[in-house]
Amino acid sequence: MRKSTSRFVGVFAAVAVAISACAPEPTAPNTVDSELQGPAFAKGGKATGDVVSAKLQEINAGLAAAGAGYAVEMAEISLGPNASVDQAQIIFAFDRTLRLSSKWVPGDARRDADGDNITYMNHMSLMTANGALNAEPAIDASFGTWEHVNCSKLNLVKRPHDGSLNSAVIVDNDGTPFGNPFAADIYTLGFLPGFFFDVFLGPGASQNVLGVTFTFIFGSFDSEGNFTPSDIDNNHRTDTALKEIWYNDDFLWSTSGGPGEDIETVAFHENGHALELGHFGKVSVNLSAGRLIVAPRAAMNAFILGTLRGPLGTDNAAYCGNWASWPN
Ligand SMILES: [Zn+2]
Repeated sequence: MRKSTSRFVGVFAAVAVAISACAPEPTAPNTVDSELQGPAFAKGGKATGDVVSAKLQEINAGLAAAGAGYAVEMAEISLGPNASVDQAQIIFAFDRTLRLSSKWVPGDARRDADGDNITYMNHMSLMTANGALNAEPAIDASFGTWEHVNCSKLNLVKRPHDGSLNSAVIVDNDGTPFGNPFAADIYTLGFLPGFFFDVFLGPGASQNVLGVTFTFIFGSFDSEGNFTPSDIDNNHRTDTALKEIWYNDDFLWSTSGGPGEDIETVAFHENGHALELGHFGKVSVNLSAGRLIVAPRAAMNAFILGTLRGPLGTDNAAYCGNWASWPN
């Protein structure tokens, strides 16, 4: 525990150094692409169309240099009630040509798969929200809710935390992970200061993003750093390598239905992404009421608008589409 904590302090410092080093001189390639400016999260900011993140590309450059057999593909973000309707819901690492939905491959040895089970691990030292609230029971309960959807026999198996920082996103300066990114299929890093959201997702994210799920896929980098995804099961989907989930500790959180964002609601949403559900539902503004509305309402709406700890119709349909035919 002590080792893990001190290591994380080191990571905080490393990230701070990286920012101060990068901030004065943003990369200015000849082909200035507005997509590379990063998402506009500030209230009222527009992030129309696709958003390709220079930060995610930077992570992939590190993975390429390290000769890794995987890359980050995207970050799906869950927006709080104060976010604006046109904010980006997904941030991509690649341009459109490489954007294919990815799927877990049953028994995939590359990720140390537990047979046909999907495994998850919680980073214990960051399982506390707002400095006092134990979030882990709510996170575990949300996995259980997905696991018990009737159409599927998928088993979600919890692996005990080994004490290491197994993040695939927060890595050493040379791109090397601190721990083992394949310690489990789904790694919940936990509740991080909003600062991390601004750094990794774009300025303003700390105010609007409740949670984020990063998707990494298997493949190979060539000598120029270009990534080719794999499809070893020939299902015309790229192969998921791992998922990593963060929660924004700048928000007020709750487990009891009191003031604050309901942890189990947001965990159910993020774990839906980990189980390869995307966002759905149309978001609009009710001007007279001055608030956002989503239709149809679903756990997988990009905006989290109140407590919803289980699947509704579209959530069930999407989950069953992914998992009813999973082999077990
Ligand atoms: Zn989401």
